[in-house]
Amino acid sequence: MGRQNLKTDIAIIGGGIAGLWALNQLRNAGYSAILFEQDTLGSCQTIASQGMIHGGIKYALGGALSGGSEAISVMPDIWRRCLKGGGKVDLRGSRVLSEEFYLWSSAGLQSRLTSFLASKMLRGRVAKVATDDYPAPFRNAQFRGKVYRLADLVIDVHSLVETLTNAHREAIFRIDWDTARLVHEGGLARLELPDLSLHPRRLLLAAGIGNEALISQLGGCKPAMQRRPLQQVLVKHQYREALYAHCMGGNPSPRLTISSHRTLLDEPVWSLGGDLATEGMNDPPQVLIAKAQTELRELFPWIDFGNCQWYTMKIDRGEPLQSSRLKPDQAYVGKVDEIDNVLVAWPTKLTLSPNLADNLEQNLVRDGIAPLHKPDLSLLAFMGQPDITPNHWDTVFT
Ligand SMILES: Cc1cc2nc3c(=O)[nH]c(=O)nc-3n(C[C@H](O)[C@H](O)[C@H](O)COP(=O)(O)OP(=O)(O)OC[C@H]3O[C@@H](n4cnc5c(N)ncnc54)[C@H](O)[C@@H]3O)c2cc1C
Repeated sequence: MGRQNLKTDIAIIGGGIAGLWALNQLRNAGYSAILFEQDTLGSCQTIASQGMIHGGIKYALGGALSGGSEAISVMPDIWRRCLKGGGKVDLRGSRVLSEEFYLWSSAGLQSRLTSFLASKMLRGRVAKVATDDYPAPFRNAQFRGKVYRLADLVIDVHSLVETLTNAHREAIFRIDWDTARLVHEGGLARLELPDLSLHPRRLLLAAGIGNEALISQLGGCKPAMQRRPLQQVLVKHQYREALYAHCMGGNPSPRLTISSHRTLLDEPVWSLGGDLATEGMNDPPQVLIAKAQTELRELFPWIDFGNCQWYTMKIDRGEPLQSSRLKPDQAYVGKVDEIDNVLVAWPTKLTLSPNLADNLEQNLVRDGIAPLHKPDLSLLAFMGQPDITPNHWDTVFT
């Protein structure tokens, strides 16, 4: 039998939040879209993320507000709509960890934070919390700071990946690059699989830091990518109260960002990011863990975290190369140089996944690509399906 040709509207490479959200939104809009993942779904950045769906206050603190910040400020409302089943993507199976995200300052920096938060720009998006309503970790006579509530939410990322996967599992396949390859000929890219050529009208590269290698595999060099490395700290402990908060120190960026999670055995885990993780990106794990221990002792001297287990994870965040050192604050979707049917996407934030999928849809409409093909997905069944990445705290802690 000769090689078969299969046509699809969209093929997506990469099953992190960018690829999975795009798959859901495009298929819900009637497109035939097929996703290929080489490892497990949600691996790399997505499963490591803290799940904060934020409206950009963090950027505002850094003085990095630009036009794009409007894109991020509407994100929490879009996610809430999706969580209720009323958005372009149905997130009703995903778990919200918290409807509240807090901000507090370490001692001595209160007045700077207060005047910033009073600024007109932030009115309605930040509220001072009355002492009686403080989250449990701050309810102690020794606590001197003030606490603010942000209109952000925190999502359980594992359940998010599961929800997006389950909704369109029939269109998700595992790709083995030992037997598959991307080919670029006459300005068009296709995917060569054993016995089968897949011709997408648009090929979306949504592989996080993997996009760089995919672009060069296709013979392109633009858009260029930048990596922003960090080393996140995980601590499993016995303190049962949850906290989702940024601690502001002397820098415009958060000194420490805390999110709370539970292992499958219901043991509390805090994920620690912020300056601790970015400034400590090159620290040997034991050095960074010692810094994290000092931070928690300084910020919460009244809490006994009990017998802790610690772990650090080094991760590169992948983003389009920026001309300045500013962080991009909207999702990126762009064409790969000289290849007509290839798009590359970086959400730059989990939060911005809806923005990425909207940009992608606009891109398709602009190019006159409407739903057309109905590929027979049973032809791809031989590839098998990828699993969902477990949470790190369920694999690294005993
Ligand atoms: C520690 C940490 C905390 C974060 N916290 C937050 C937060 O609280 N809120 C927020 O908004 N953002 C957060 N972010 C940012 C957010 O996680 C990322 O922007 C987002 O997850 C990127 O998603 P992605 O799908 O582009 O990439 P990834 O999640 O990295 O997914 C890429 C996928 O592509 C696959 N892949 C790679 N190469 C190939 C290939 N050749 N073929 C097939 N598949 C391939 C990978 O296996 C992976 O599954 C955080 C990031 C980190 C690192």
